[in-house]
Amino acid sequence: MNDYLVKATVHNGLVRAYAIRATEAIEEARKRHDTWATTTAALGRTMTISTMMAAMLKNEQKITVKVEGGGPIGAIIVDSNAKGEVRGYVTNPHVDFELNKFGKLDVARAVGVTGHLSVVKDLGLKDHFTGQVPLVTGEISEDFTYYFAHSEQIPSAVGAGVLINPDHSVKATGGFIIQVMPGADEEFITDLEQQIAAFPAISQLVADGATPEEILQSLFKNYQVNFHEKLPVRFKCQCSVERIKQAISGLGEDEIKKMIEEDDGAEATCHFCNKTYQLSATDLEKLLDQPLN
Ligand code: ZN
Repeated sequence: MNDYLVKATVHNGLVRAYAIRATEAIEEARKRHDTWATTTAALGRTMTISTMMAAMLKNEQKITVKVEGGGPIGAIIVDSNAKGEVRGYVTNPHVDFELNKFGKLDVARAVGVTGHLSVVKDLGLKDHFTGQVPLVTGEISEDFTYYFAHSEQIPSAVGAGVLINPDHSVKATGGFIIQVMPGADEEFITDLEQQIAAFPAISQLVADGATPEEILQSLFKNYQVNFHEKLPVRFKCQCSVERIKQAISGLGEDEIKKMIEEDDGAEATCHFCNKTYQLSATDLEKLLDQPLN
């Protein structure tokens, strides 16, 4: 497992910085959903940034990110938690376009630009935070930058990139989030803005072997970066046969009887990881005898 993220502070704690390498997690998502190149980039960027956002939370807290831009891929849905676990899917995985005029994967064309980015943070004990902003570019990173500024009122710089191999597998994925707290001086902010504007493509840096630590060190060349935590990152779904049984149990007795009589069982596929669960008629009869909920 090579994927991980780091949490750091810079400039006497006035800047919080996160950087991630998520190559294997995004390749796992690509394989599970058979996403095509442009879609892999859109889903991968969203998963990469969401994983860093969830790492800002604690214990059992988690977030769900939804990007709905009206484009051909439909919705991007990503779940991640404070343990570095992430899962995600798109409505239509088989979307791919030619490169855009900058020679990059045309993520905005796949995502669309007429919808919203929404974030739901599950903070535990039924406490939720919900934020939603309109999409500004559909390129994902800029949309999260806008989200942080307008929904959470934290000036931030967000970057995420996915590099795709000629065979359409994922070559490299990386990202960063830089957040500036109140009190940072103008000189520092100008310096940082210039660094970010001139920063090379992050997926290429990761492909060239840069670690998350090195990504932050090259972003903050003239400053000391204090690293606080290193967190392993992986694609992990939360589904299980018990959860599927619970969901079917919730459909009610009549529906379950129908499944037994008409289909001699039930088949359910998890949206997030594409795993299929088969329940036999006997399994369903047990649910009727002992409802789970
Ligand atoms: Zn699953």
